[in-house]
Amino acid sequence: MMMNVPLLVAPLLERAEKYFAKKEVVSRTATGIQRFTYRQIGERTRRLASVLTQLGVQKGERVGTLAWNHHRHLEAYFAIPGIGAVLHTINIRLSPEHITYIINHAEDQVLLVDEDLWPLVEAIKDHLHTVKTFIVMTDYEELPETSLEHTRVHSYEKLLEKGDPTFAFDKDLDENAPAGMCYTSATTGNPKGVTYTQRSIVLHCMALGLVDTLALSESDIAMAVVPMFHVNAWGLPFAATWFGTTQVMPGPRFTPQLLAELIQQEKVTTTAGVPTIWLGMLQVLEAGNYDISSLRNIVCGGSAAPRGVIQAYETKYGVPFLHAYGMTETSPVVTCARLKSYQQDLSPEEKLDISAKQGLVVPGLEIKVVGPNGEVTPDGQEMGELLIRGPWIADEYYKDERSSEAFIDGWLHTGDVATIDEEGTIKLVDRTKDLIKSGGEWISSVDIENALMAHEAVFEATCIGVPHPEWAERPVACVVLKEAYRDKVTKDDLLSFIAPHFAKWWLPDDIIFMNEIPKTSVGKFLKRQLRDQLNQHLQQS
Ligand code: ADP
Repeated sequence: MMMNVPLLVAPLLERAEKYFAKKEVVSRTATGIQRFTYRQIGERTRRLASVLTQLGVQKGERVGTLAWNHHRHLEAYFAIPGIGAVLHTINIRLSPEHITYIINHAEDQVLLVDEDLWPLVEAIKDHLHTVKTFIVMTDYEELPETSLEHTRVHSYEKLLEKGDPTFAFDKDLDENAPAGMCYTSATTGNPKGVTYTQRSIVLHCMALGLVDTLALSESDIAMAVVPMFHVNAWGLPFAATWFGTTQVMPGPRFTPQLLAELIQQEKVTTTAGVPTIWLGMLQVLEAGNYDISSLRNIVCGGSAAPRGVIQAYETKYGVPFLHAYGMTETSPVVTCARLKSYQQDLSPEEKLDISAKQGLVVPGLEIKVVGPNGEVTPDGQEMGELLIRGPWIADEYYKDERSSEAFIDGWLHTGDVATIDEEGTIKLVDRTKDLIKSGGEWISSVDIENALMAHEAVFEATCIGVPHPEWAERPVACVVLKEAYRDKVTKDDLLSFIAPHFAKWWLPDDIIFMNEIPKTSVGKFLKRQLRDQLNQHLQQS
């Protein structure tokens, strides 16, 4: 028999303190770039943990964070689970109503808030029923103006001065106790809470380190662009700390230029974010003189990575693109698209086909694709809903009746429609609600988007179903052209460009040129809003 040692979050940081004390966290904050060693991060984290204890935070209670990616947020990532409390990262881009809802629903006791996000809290403070203490994370001496009583609002740095740098983390914890929490970015209804356990966070970190997964290692300089306020920045801050990886944190309100600069200056080797980030950076790279050759890869997920983007990074800049798939409910990494050894000799086009799919399930998880009656679909043939199970997959939403819709018989029903080919590679066809049903047949909006985005004039493209009297629904595409091509490229140019790839009935009935495609709080195309806009547009025309 083996030792039953609980898997806890605090020892991940302790390892960095002990073995990688000299290695750095490079943190961009409101006043510039600051550098901390893991020794300093360790001491500051212990101070924060002691302060939270002094403030009366109990095991199991939620501490909320409203913050960008920087060293103070990293300290909260370890201090909160380190005292057995629950790190509740709050998506700063949700509506004030949703933010109020989730803070109240999670019953947050303390809120750690970035200074520039303070106005957001100020606006909703009277509706927050459980928060006893606010801590402002600021570089400045003065706290922002507030109409809250001063005793409830503290400065992070001043509190840390009073904290204990030798504070011992709580090791007497159940590995299945809650350690983190994140609400889904809800496009309909209230956000749903997902609770991560001490154990699930550690196991997910292990998966991130596997060579055939993200291969995150001590020798990396990792920059998570994906926000720490959503799904733990894909677990990267936890794993990078554990492995002693140098971390670069891009801080508040970064631009694509700033990301390119940070990659160049800090010699970032791996970075991760949603496709819209990499699309934006491509434009900067095309215009400017940045050297991004230090990158060994770019990890891209959250929505389908467009083929054209993968191709541009790989061929123009020599940076491999690693496409991954996951959800808030799955910690998030479920699959990543790496070529198998015997696929390395395929043609560039065939390889691109594989990289543009979502990939193979990572070790530790199980997946299946099921048809409408729950039957497992034969490999590579039919599409169906993707189901997942495993030790870092949620099995309920926090205090939410909607749990029974997604968690059935030990499987998470993702609401994503996928196929699996004979190699086991998953291809996400669409979200159930975004598939376009035309005359009894399904059209994948994602495939059409991908094809359009491969055109050199197209900056962004999305495709949605609009009601049609005869066919039930028909696809209509919305396209944002790159500046240089505006007024030069027509609908017909785009339609003939994608026509060879599709059956005729798959081609969009219309292409609407826009200045911008509305996006969700995490940078995905907001298709619900587009559908409403287009419906109005069609009714008026
Ligand atoms: P987050 O992206 O932050 O996890 P959600 O949990 O709201 O936010 O979104 C999860 C959904 O995003 C998935 O169910 C899937 O529809 C979509 N998604 C994530 N990664 C990919 C990907 N690589 N390709 C296509 N869709 C993806």
